[in-house]
Amino acid sequence: MGKVLIIGAGGVGTVVAHKVAQNPDVFTEIMLASRTKSKCDAIAADVKKRTGVTIQTAQVDADVVPELVKLFNRFKPELVINVALPYQDLTIMDACLEAGVNYLDTANYEPKDEAHFEYSWQWAYKEKFKKAGLTAILGCGFDPGVTSIYTAYAAKHHFDEIQYLDIVDCNAGDHGKAFATNFNPEINIREVTQKGKYWENGQWVETEPHEIHKPLNYPEIGTKESYVIYHEELESLVKNFPTLKRARFWMTFGQEYLTHLRVIQNIGMARIDEVEFNGVKIVPIQFLKAVLPDPGELGENYTGQTSIGCRIRGLKDGKEKTYYIYNNCSHEEAFKETGAQGVSYTTGVPAMIGAMMFFKGEWRKPGVYNVEEFNPDPFMEKLNIHGLPWVELHDVDLEL
Ligand code: NDP
Repeated sequence: MGKVLIIGAGGVGTVVAHKVAQNPDVFTEIMLASRTKSKCDAIAADVKKRTGVTIQTAQVDADVVPELVKLFNRFKPELVINVALPYQDLTIMDACLEAGVNYLDTANYEPKDEAHFEYSWQWAYKEKFKKAGLTAILGCGFDPGVTSIYTAYAAKHHFDEIQYLDIVDCNAGDHGKAFATNFNPEINIREVTQKGKYWENGQWVETEPHEIHKPLNYPEIGTKESYVIYHEELESLVKNFPTLKRARFWMTFGQEYLTHLRVIQNIGMARIDEVEFNGVKIVPIQFLKAVLPDPGELGENYTGQTSIGCRIRGLKDGKEKTYYIYNNCSHEEAFKETGAQGVSYTTGVPAMIGAMMFFKGEWRKPGVYNVEEFNPDPFMEKLNIHGLPWVELHDVDLEL
């Protein structure tokens, strides 16, 4: 059906490359490009071994629009799957507009020098994409991504009005390291050390980092302490589902992880400004990334599973209803299939399915859209086929 270009050769890029290669009827030609070409070559070799499919590779600095445009004009993809870092979202969108290419990502734009993320920068491209007749699909990983699509699916099929949404994200995996992050450490640490924020009665309520927490019970896992943090899909979900009276995001953290995080912050290693060291300027959190375990290498001994879902309360036929939809994903199974751990897997599979939705014409409309603005049904069907099956529970105790 079409030519796809994947940008970013980390854990998520590894999974996307494997998953697109498994679907040659949809993705007829594949290229993987990133800053370090050797990483693309290693992934392509692995994909070839597992699936027999050839992936072309290229070097590109995605911070530089002319370099991207040159690559786009050479390969002529119909769609770019951006799984580099959130810093590159706008340059890649600019290049897409210049070269006439459609766009999909899994994380919203963040400036490098400000620990701050919001959709306004990318939403500002809506008219330009519309005018160019190009589709941009934002936030098509698991969270954001599947959690947003679960919400759209619940609103469409199970409720007349959704009122209370709690997204619950548990990683009960064990990688055997004292401290490691499951995706890019710089992005991950910036996300979990910021202040908490949730939506209630038409406004944002801010909390201190990790101030609100409680034990929640996760299917097949058990009880885990869960913390309210701010997560980017809340911004678009409260806009697209205005009946929501409250929307929160909960993530589990172990005590050991939180202690490490506190120390990292207290000693200044989470700083994102430049400091001078031995005559060179370095950014502490970037240095920290260099010494922490590479998230892409965690897979081999990773056991346990992730459990991510939406707990929703609202009205159906005039009565109150509760609903819980979730997926559990095994780190070991993910590694066996793609050579990457569960967090990369739960992000990369939805990115591939979103791309599939685009090529099949299900999710193709000029403009810039968050995933919950598209029809959730064909996407939900594909989750069950491509490795992330979901479970629904009706009228259960949501604990929240
Ligand atoms: P990694 O750090 O493992 O990989 C990022 C890749 O992007 C690396 O290959 C890196 O290259 C490449 N890259 C970085 N800067 C540039 C640049 N300027 N030009 C070209 N390539 C560049 O990250 P992950 O794979 O873990 O995560 C990828 C994305 O997925 C992130 O945006 C993350 O926020 C998002 N994500 C989304 C989730 C969701 O559920 N929605 C969950 C988890 C992650 P190099 O190897 O040279 O450093």
